[in-house]
Order: sequence, then C-alpha cells, then structure tokens
Amino acid sequence: MQSLKSEFPIFETARKEGRPLIFLDNASTTQKPQCVIDAVSGFYAGYYANVGRGLYWPATAASFNYDRAREKVRAFIGASSKKEVIFTSGTTDAVNKVVNTFLLPRLEQGDEVLVSEMEHHSNFVPWQQACQSKGAKLKVIPLDAGLNLDLSKFAAMLTDKVKILAITAISNTLGMKNDLKSIINLAHQHNIKVFVDAAQLPLSEKINVQNMDCDFLAFSGHKVFGPTGIGVLYGKQVLLQKMSPLAYGGGMVQQVSVDKTMMADLPAKHEAGTPNIAGTIGLAAAIDFINSVGVEEIGRHGAELRKYAVKRLSEIEGLTLFAKDAKSTAILSFTMEGIHPHDIAAFLAEKGIAVRAGHHCTHPLMQKLDIAGTVRVSFNIYNSEEEVDLLKNTLVEIRSFFL
Ligand SMILES: *Cc1c(COP(=O)(O)O)cnc(C)c1O
Repeated sequence: MQSLKSEFPIFETARKEGRPLIFLDNASTTQKPQCVIDAVSGFYAGYYANVGRGLYWPATAASFNYDRAREKVRAFIGASSKKEVIFTSGTTDAVNKVVNTFLLPRLEQGDEVLVSEMEHHSNFVPWQQACQSKGAKLKVIPLDAGLNLDLSKFAAMLTDKVKILAITAISNTLGMKNDLKSIINLAHQHNIKVFVDAAQLPLSEKINVQNMDCDFLAFSGHKVFGPTGIGVLYGKQVLLQKMSPLAYGGGMVQQVSVDKTMMADLPAKHEAGTPNIAGTIGLAAAIDFINSVGVEEIGRHGAELRKYAVKRLSEIEGLTLFAKDAKSTAILSFTMEGIHPHDIAAFLAEKGIAVRAGHHCTHPLMQKLDIAGTVRVSFNIYNSEEEVDLLKNTLVEIRSFFL
C-alpha cells in the first residue's frame, strides 16, 4: 500500500515544501491520485464540450466519456441498469432529492420516517424537516450500550405508518458498520422503503445494490478519490420512474410545448441542466483507480490500521476510545480526559497530522454520548503503521503538555 502513496501528488508537494502531511481525515474527504487529476484536466484540455447534443468532435467525445462514467458507476455498485444511476452533486444533494420527490408527495400527517441515532446531519435534517412540514413523525432508532443499532428496538418500530427508513452504512463519527442486509430485509417485510447513506461504504466493501436490495443508495465522489461536486443517487428503476423529476429544465425533457412537457426517460429525467461533466469523468477515473487496487484490499488496509490504532492508543492513560470493537471500517474516535478535542487537533496540526475534532455533523450522536465532540482519525491507503505510531507519540506529548 505504501507504494501507492506516490500516486497522490499532494504528499510530494508537501515533501518539497518541507511541510509534513499525515492525512488522517479521510472520512471527511480523500486525497486525489494523479490519474483523477489527469482525467479532469484531460477533459478540459483535450475534448471539452457540452454533452448530449452536439454532433461535432469534442461534443461526441465528451458525451462518450460522460456515458462511460455512468456505466462505470453502474458496475461499481452492481446496479442492473444505467437508468438507475443518477448523478447528483453529492450525498447531501441525493438525500434532499429523494426527500423532495419521493417522500414529500407520499407523506401524510401521522406517517412516520425512521432514521438512526448515528446519522450524519445530511441524512437526518432533510427527513426531519419533511416530517415537520407535513405533521409526520421522525422516529430515531437508538443505539445499544455497545453503540450498535439496537435491533430489537428497531424491529418494534416497524409499523405500517413508516414510509421510509434512512440509514447510514457506516457511522462517519465512530466507525460502526450496520448490518444492512438484515436491516433492509426486516424493513421490507413491513413494506418500508430503505434509503442507504453509503458515503463511507465504497472504500470499505464492494457495494452490490442488488444483493443489498436497498431502494435508494447515495455516495459522494470526493470521499472515494474523486472530485468534489459529484455524487451518485442509485434508485430502483420502478421507483425512479414513478418519481417526478428531481428538478426541471433543459436536458430532461422529450417534448415541450406551451401547454405541456413530456419528460425524458431515465436517467435524463432526473438530471436537469448541464451536468458536472468534469466531475463524472474524474469519478470514473477514481473508480478505475479503486478497481486497480481492489476494494477488498483498500478496506482491509483501513480496518487493519484502525485495529492497530486501537491497540496503540489504548496504551495512553486517560484516553477513551469509542466503538473500539467495530469491525472492518477505517474510522476511530476518541477523547482524552481533561483536554478539549479542538486543543488536541490543533496540537496535532502543528505537527502536520490532519485529524478532525468536534461533532462530525452528528449532533444527535454527541447528545447520546453526552459529549461535546471527539477527535476522529480515519485511514486510507496512503496511511501506515508508522503514522499511527507518530500519532500515538504525539498524543502522549499532548498529555504531558496539557496536564
Ligand atoms: C460525508 C458524509 C455525508 C455528506 O456527504 P457530502 O459529500 O458532504 O454531501 C453524509 N453522510 C455520511 C455518512 C458522510 O460521511
């Protein structure tokens, strides 16, 4: 895995500038390999034009690559058709689109929507606001003492009032992984649709939406080595077909007259306006990169580093690790007695160690834990055990500095 670090030019830039960079904030976003940077600039420099319409050569090349990107995403998530792959600007955008065009038209007073206590605000606030606007009820699946989803409480919440379950695959804050297959199976027994927030999933395990049987799934390009501003909404074809367009405008229509408009077929129907062409081309390059390394390898490396970090950080007095035993994810949170998470992050930043401190867009989870925030480290293929050792030694230094 260390040989792959050289594919990420930021580390060479850092070295040349004499600034160390230990990047342990991968749950927030990932660094970009040269192939993704080249794909984006190659599009702008080599065959830039709008997609879908022009018959001249840069337009045909742009359209070809745009279409190929969708095919790559389809294969990447195991969808049965390209029609089920809708490009969005990210996970947040995808959630909002499903809330606005799937949930809201079907939501009535007294209905319920289920989310969990570990959701990112992006998979919490949109559902909450929708419920409030319709007099529906947002119900929050609690976590058990081990910080896993309380499955027996969850089972008891499944009634015919529930319109949709929105659930994350992996906690972006503490790193627990949900058993989506059983959760979805249970929800479907009650005819409940399931939206999966997969923002943290693609580098942990191979996604297969058909095996998982989710109704919707979303992730962001920038968390999987791709550009910012591009994301994916997967939806089962029957549902996407029934849904009104996520937005109206050019590119998503078949025929327009003064009186009425015929919408285009999937996926165009849900993609109004000029899309983020460069983003999709960069995402396709990121997927090629991931496939060349192997999702299993990437996932295993992250999980091994987490395990190693649990072992090393446990040696520090007064340090509390959360969801210590969470398996096969690359995210680990901790607090240190008597030292504010922001002070820890600031001290680490001085040494070039990039971590995140705070609530990680999960206020409800922080309320559950009764803490203001954590320090979160999250690993990727360019990280190593030596970096974890350095993190540990610096944390020991921090402890003696502050206490
Ligand atoms: C990052 C993240 C989001 C939000 O993704 P954006 O790219 O900011 O839209 C949502 N859910 C989880 C679990 C995340 O980690």
